[in-house]
Amino acid sequence: GAATRDRLRIAIQKSGRLAEPARKLLAACGLSWRESRDKLFCYGESLPVDLLLVRDDDIPGLIADGVCDLGVVGRNELDEQAGARAQVGLPQAYRELRGLGFGQCRLMLAVPEDWDWTGPAQLRGRGLRIATSYPSILSRWLQEQQIDAQVVELSGSVEIAPRLGTAELICDLVSSGATLKANQLKPVETLLESEAVLAGPVGGFDDARAALAQMLLRRMDGVLQVRE
Ligand code: ATP
Ligand code: ZN
Repeated sequence: GAATRDRLRIAIQKSGRLAEPARKLLAACGLSWRESRDKLFCYGESLPVDLLLVRDDDIPGLIADGVCDLGVVGRNELDEQAGARAQVGLPQAYRELRGLGFGQCRLMLAVPEDWDWTGPAQLRGRGLRIATSYPSILSRWLQEQQIDAQVVELSGSVEIAPRLGTAELICDLVSSGATLKANQLKPVETLLESEAVLAGPVGGFDDARAALAQMLLRRMDGVLQVRE
């Protein structure tokens, strides 16, 4: 994103788990906005910091393309898309600036409840299929563990894949574990400890946005410290 701008643009989730806590955090940093009628854009009033309300999956790409300067997104989504970029030879475009202390969850491998789990080595050489929405993080883990399983990419309802017969195991986000239990699955390995993060471009900014981002980060550090 080479365009010069004198306002900072932050992408946050429009609705969902991270939407409300992201807005609250930014408001606690002293930001206030005027909402547009279509509720996709919030014009910053107290500071030249605007919000773009989008799907969480779109946030890493919006930063990579320079459409947004910063974003509040799950580490799971950021890491997955960074891995996918790396796999096709694209340079790293964004990085995690801060962990934000909300939206905590784990990306976990889950197996049928009746399996005796002895460890990842148990999966080797069995030609198993693993359903997930995080193919890049899962593939990297399988490689590290020297497991030759097939990754079945699903965009949603991953937990029903074993019952449908499209995979034997799954790799999915877990917070309470209730969804797994309801599907007769149990979590056995953690691939990623996730939370909401503030993401920004690898390169930083070379215009008025640099000072704005710096001020926002300083305020955010203050807010996060008090919350601890
Ligand atoms: P969108 O419409 O924005 O694509 P979504 O359905 O992908 O929404 P949510 O379910 O709101 O997104 O989850 C957003 C983020 O919340 C996840 O990427 C993850 O970082 C975090 N999260 C925390 N706990 C959980 C959980 N139990 N299941 C899924 N995500 C969770
Ligand atoms: Zn999403």
